[in-house]
Amino acid sequence: MVILILNSGSSSVKYQLWDTKSTGMLAKGLVSRIGIDNPKLEHRAGDKKYDYCPDGKIDHNDAVKLALDALVDSEHGIIENIEQIDAVGHRVVHGGEKFAESALITDDVIDAVKECIPLAPLHNPPNLMGIEACQKLMPNIPQVAVFDTAFHQTMEPYAFIYALPYDLYKTQKIRRYGFHGTSHYYVAHRAAEFLGKPIEKLKIITAHLGNGASMTAVKNGKSVDTSMGFTPLEGLVMGTRTGDMDPAIVMFVMEHMNMTPADANNFFNKKSGILGISGKSNDIRDVIEASESGDMQAKLALDVYTYRIRKYIGAYAAAMGGLDTLVFTAGAGENSPFIRRKIIRNLEFLGIKIDEQKNESAIGITMDISTDDASVRTLVVPTNEELVIANETEQIVSEI
Ligand code: AMP
Repeated sequence: MVILILNSGSSSVKYQLWDTKSTGMLAKGLVSRIGIDNPKLEHRAGDKKYDYCPDGKIDHNDAVKLALDALVDSEHGIIENIEQIDAVGHRVVHGGEKFAESALITDDVIDAVKECIPLAPLHNPPNLMGIEACQKLMPNIPQVAVFDTAFHQTMEPYAFIYALPYDLYKTQKIRRYGFHGTSHYYVAHRAAEFLGKPIEKLKIITAHLGNGASMTAVKNGKSVDTSMGFTPLEGLVMGTRTGDMDPAIVMFVMEHMNMTPADANNFFNKKSGILGISGKSNDIRDVIEASESGDMQAKLALDVYTYRIRKYIGAYAAAMGGLDTLVFTAGAGENSPFIRRKIIRNLEFLGIKIDEQKNESAIGITMDISTDDASVRTLVVPTNEELVIANETEQIVSEI
């Protein structure tokens, strides 16, 4: 089945074209600077490269049209016409409590995604714009929504309820939702497959350590707890987000630094985290380099970042009553032996021991980096959210 995968954000649309039967990914691209000046299309199909800068401002509909035109172009395209696309799979950030699984897009599904806009005001509206553009440009092609929150819908109330008046859960829908669900789902299943063990019998901790970062406790194949919460701000220290902190700090800085709610939102989401502590960069590679040349704030940022992850490993082992497998994925998880080594320091008591040589060679590949005698298998597993979206879309569309 030929599937177009769309990740439609506020100012960009990322796309991939997949053939699920044979070749995997056929083409990919990015339309950036939507709604502002100097928009750009970057399209890649095998070794064919095509960049194009349209005149004036473009909207999401124009962006999807640019992507489709590039895919069918006689020179740099990969298919002859749009009808060759069998289905479209959309990444949708927030499915609230309505969606524990992916869904064929219907008017009801669109209404339900709209109902979740207050929970994800920056993400669901552009996701919907991508869906609407495809409905307009490819009216006869079925579309599927794959939700970032869906995998975590298996959490028990004691894991997702905040200690607030219970009414806020009922009236405002305030609870832990969790994000990066597609990635946690993929790497947990891939880890079980790699180990040759049924996921239903494993206690797995997945650590998605990208610019956004989160961890999940996956017990018997189900998400039982996850570090991101009502929004992606909670949990681990991230590139620019605080992760966990005393909520009183919010009121304190608003009062003492004269911040509006919007200022505070920006401050804790965009100016904090690794960038905030180091004062240098949100990119861990830059911060490692600065730390190695003696920068104390950079060193501190890495210490706080890795210590937080180590604490969550302990917490999730306790939450699951044990641990079989620890999985590292995404930017730093897949590519940084240094960060992995720093995280697992002093975790031998849990059975986590890594072989330094294996750790050094596990860069962007699936690999078991544990010592032979470790009771917990520590794996590096490159994430592949597009593969999950392609598979989910294929499964749902083939059942129509
Ligand atoms: P992602 O969001 O998964 O694309 O991850 C991007 C982030 O991963 C970057 O901003 C870096 O902080 C981190 N990263 C990527 N490669 C490395 C590396 N080799 N060493 C340390 N951090 C890395």
